[in-house]
Amino acid sequence: MPAKKTDPKPVFSVVAPVFNEIGSVEEFYKTVVSVMHPLKQPWEFVLVDDGSTDGSTDKIRELATKDAHVKLIIFARNFGHQIAVTAGLDYSRGDAVIIIDADLQDPPAVMLDLIAKWKEGYEVVYAVRRKREGESWLKLVTASLFYRLIFRITDVKIPLDTGDFRLIDRKVVDVMGQMRERHRFLRGMAAWVGFRQVGMEYDRKERFAGKTKYPFSKMLKLALNAITSFSYFPLQVATYLGFICAGISILAIPVVAYLRLSNQGSLLGQATTLIAVLFLGGVQLITLGILGEYVGRIYDEVKGRPLYIVSEAPEYKK
Ligand code: UDP
Ligand code: MG
Repeated sequence: MPAKKTDPKPVFSVVAPVFNEIGSVEEFYKTVVSVMHPLKQPWEFVLVDDGSTDGSTDKIRELATKDAHVKLIIFARNFGHQIAVTAGLDYSRGDAVIIIDADLQDPPAVMLDLIAKWKEGYEVVYAVRRKREGESWLKLVTASLFYRLIFRITDVKIPLDTGDFRLIDRKVVDVMGQMRERHRFLRGMAAWVGFRQVGMEYDRKERFAGKTKYPFSKMLKLALNAITSFSYFPLQVATYLGFICAGISILAIPVVAYLRLSNQGSLLGQATTLIAVLFLGGVQLITLGILGEYVGRIYDEVKGRPLYIVSEAPEYKK
């Protein structure tokens, strides 16, 4: 970690990942400032530019020159939302760190409620989505299914309908900072560490501008990361499938033998053989694929590359 500036230590850090948010970043900045300013406590605004190509980077640079609260971290390329938030946590210095999206879907005013709970002594205050406005039905259905699946198959009880919008105490940020796994699912990691946690409901708003940066492919990747990082269930599925197939064949052998010997008919033709072979082949390939998902992740971990590459972080001296 780079050495950091020695200005007064902030009480609050607001961390936001920014990826091509030119339409919302200025409004987002203004709204966050209007919420944080009246608190009259030192705070910092850590904006992580995740390889934007639409001019958001210059916009953030401009904000940083005007307002000393703004600290910018500019990635060398797009590393993904979870990694961008991780960098924000790594660089943040506040006693309480708030993770929030830059598209104004997480209303900045809710930060005050999170802070109130933190003052009551909670170490992780996560915001639970009561309503989600302006999302496609596909996103709503897949997200809802995903949260419930994850809840069922993992040992860590990851809160339902909860994104990354949350407040995390410094103690927890430090612990999470030690967890350098490459395929990150921060909500799961934050649940895994323990500490005193509480949820707070809020209504998730529509995007202020632009389109979602989480197309279906990225959502699927996040879901796979979440499952493989927190559960062996898919690997166990392979074992279950093996037992089921073996069980069916053991039961089928005497039946087929009886039918043949009693001359009541027999299994005819290549079709039956073909179906059995294709079925088993399919099951084997699927289980191989599942194994591959885990092996690929082990390979990524073993390479030990840095999680992200910062091209510019002027507030933080090397
Ligand atoms: N984001 C990012 N890198 C990415 C994708 C998204 O930093 O590769 C940021 C994005 O700018 C936003 C936040 O992550 O601030 C959440 O993304 P988005 O709003 O697109 O996701 P959704 O709310 O649709 O799930
Ligand atoms: Mg969004």
